[in-house]
Amino acid sequence: MRRFLVFVVLTGLAVAGAVWLADRPGEVTIRWQGWRLDTTVPVLLAVLALLLVGLSLLARLVRAVFGAPGRWLQSRRLGRQRKGYMALSDGLAAAASGDAARAAKLSRKADKLLKDPAVTALLTTQAAQLGGDADQLRDRFRAMTGRKETAFLGHKGLAELALKSGDRAIARDEAARAFELQPMAADLAVQLLDLHVEAGAWAEAEQVLRLARRHGAVSEADFPRRHALILLGRAEEALRAGDESLALDWAQDARDADPLFTPAITLAADLLRRRGKGRKAASLLKAAFKAHPHPLLITEWRKLGDGESALDRVKSLQELAQANPGAPEGHMALAEAALDAQLWGLARTHLAKAQEQRPTRAVFALLARVERDERKDEAAANAWTLKAATDSVPESSWTCGGCGHQTPDFALSCPACGAAGRLEWT
Ligand SMILES: [Zn+2]
Repeated sequence: MRRFLVFVVLTGLAVAGAVWLADRPGEVTIRWQGWRLDTTVPVLLAVLALLLVGLSLLARLVRAVFGAPGRWLQSRRLGRQRKGYMALSDGLAAAASGDAARAAKLSRKADKLLKDPAVTALLTTQAAQLGGDADQLRDRFRAMTGRKETAFLGHKGLAELALKSGDRAIARDEAARAFELQPMAADLAVQLLDLHVEAGAWAEAEQVLRLARRHGAVSEADFPRRHALILLGRAEEALRAGDESLALDWAQDARDADPLFTPAITLAADLLRRRGKGRKAASLLKAAFKAHPHPLLITEWRKLGDGESALDRVKSLQELAQANPGAPEGHMALAEAALDAQLWGLARTHLAKAQEQRPTRAVFALLARVERDERKDEAAANAWTLKAATDSVPESSWTCGGCGHQTPDFALSCPACGAAGRLEWT
């Protein structure tokens, strides 16, 4: 309808123009270089109009002829790109479903078609990961570190590769770079902390811990133990360097950071004792025993009364045990001391309580010792030893929260998996 109206209007205008021109006849003469052309104005205008139409048609023709290769190339490029992205998407799906061969094939195809490593990096990396080719994977991760958007994944990947190949120094370096980019990544923060602690890089460890806490990568509940662990590491380092005073400061800081962290308490108590502050050490140990009755505290307590008689030892241990009367650790320590002092009745009383609470092999061993020492009753002693084989519960030990490894001695890092600060007394 609109087209028709335009047509009617244009035709009307053309007719009006023709009539107007016909009403005003005129002649035109053109002279040029010995040429002479006589014509009327309407004819000249008609010729000019035809010329314009001809020129515009020519221009279209020229554009069509010369523009064709460009358009052809562009459509070809778009086609390649489409195929490339399809290969990329299919490849990611293959990688997600664990089809290594197909993922590798599609990754090569996408790489070839798209010619943009930045776009195909994720797929080629996943394909290399599935293929298990460490060298290729390392190259991929390295390429990823070059771009801001993929640098984190690149450094994290390099750290994991280094960990697998046992190269802890490189792992620590790469993990630190990744952590700088994303301090909110919890797994990474913990991994980096472990590596710093293992390497004894206390300042770095503390910095990472505080940053990780600020970004929520380490919870408020986990912070005190991890912090205490780092401070204990500093104390041990100072001790190795022969600076007992500094070591004591760090150990006390560790204990303040986590009042239930026995290894820091025993070290602080030990250093206090060595500096002639036995009473301070005793009150520290008693307070700790009240909160968490750990055998290490008893071992440290015994050192305070070095050289005392067996009877004095019983009295001294009674003082410690009173801080936490129900603790089986206290009963065991008292039973042993009573046996040494030949206080058989007292030994039996404490052993009965210990057996009731926590019948470990050590309890049965002491029960056998009472029979042997007091009554020379070898048969009764053997009966306890036999009973230990069937009725005893496992001894407490330091157990790794990460891998479940058990060890009788405390260590900053788990001897089995390297996780720092995961050893709990259970
Ligand atoms: Zn472990």
